[in-house]
Amino acid sequence: MDDYIIRVSNLKKSYGQADSRVDVLKGVDCNIKRGSICTLLGPSGSGKSTFLNILGGIESFEEGSLLVDGLELNNLSKKGLLQYRRDKLGFVFQFYNLVSNLTLKENIEVGAYLSKQALELDDLIDKLGLKDHQNKFPNQLSGGQQQRTAIARAISKRPDILLCDEPTGALDYSTAKDVLAMIQKINQEYGSTIIIATHNTAIASMSHEVLSLHDGTILEHRINNTIADASSLVW
Ligand code: ADP
Ligand code: MG
Repeated sequence: MDDYIIRVSNLKKSYGQADSRVDVLKGVDCNIKRGSICTLLGPSGSGKSTFLNILGGIESFEEGSLLVDGLELNNLSKKGLLQYRRDKLGFVFQFYNLVSNLTLKENIEVGAYLSKQALELDDLIDKLGLKDHQNKFPNQLSGGQQQRTAIARAISKRPDILLCDEPTGALDYSTAKDVLAMIQKINQEYGSTIIIATHNTAIASMSHEVLSLHDGTILEHRINNTIADASSLVW
């Protein structure tokens, strides 16, 4: 099996046409190791979300190649992309995106639905410290509890890759650290490859790899030899 779950070469993406054209990704090259936590660092507007959405098969790209487990995303049909997203990916967003009229547990069940390899949900809910709240609705949960639920939903179908776009962007300091600890635990327990887009440089030290994105290109790809515990991060 390929050590690199993701192989990106000369990937280019722009929005708009002619005078209003904006080049967002200007030739991104990188390989991401299977099973790593990879932080995608960059200031606002540098193209982090665009890159994550392309990895997630939500947005297309014009040039270059993107291989995920040997699958060239640019060659997939609509149906192929749908299946790719369903089978291989979990998504976590800044603002949780829970279904408001479903309980915590039901939200997680939605994630596992259609999966052939779903995790045992009671066990997952217990492991992630959500059991006491499982019958509550999102508006009865704190921001941190909602994000933990969203992460549990994303991981419930046991995806190979978990894509997190500013997962702690809406949370206070100590809740953010709890959520990062949960992400780290998932990486260790389930071996998922996790990509975190953020402008918080502290998250880099709990990551195996750090990609610094600047103005649509990767300035640096750092490999960390020592990995910090999420609970020890300071910012
Ligand atoms: P980041 O997540 O790092 O803040 P984004 O990927 O959201 O950056 O955006 C990168 C650039 O692409 C920004 O200049 C943004 O305005 C532009 N952009 C993003 N999405 C669109 C879109 N749908 N149409 C036009 N421009 C877009
Ligand atoms: Mg963004």
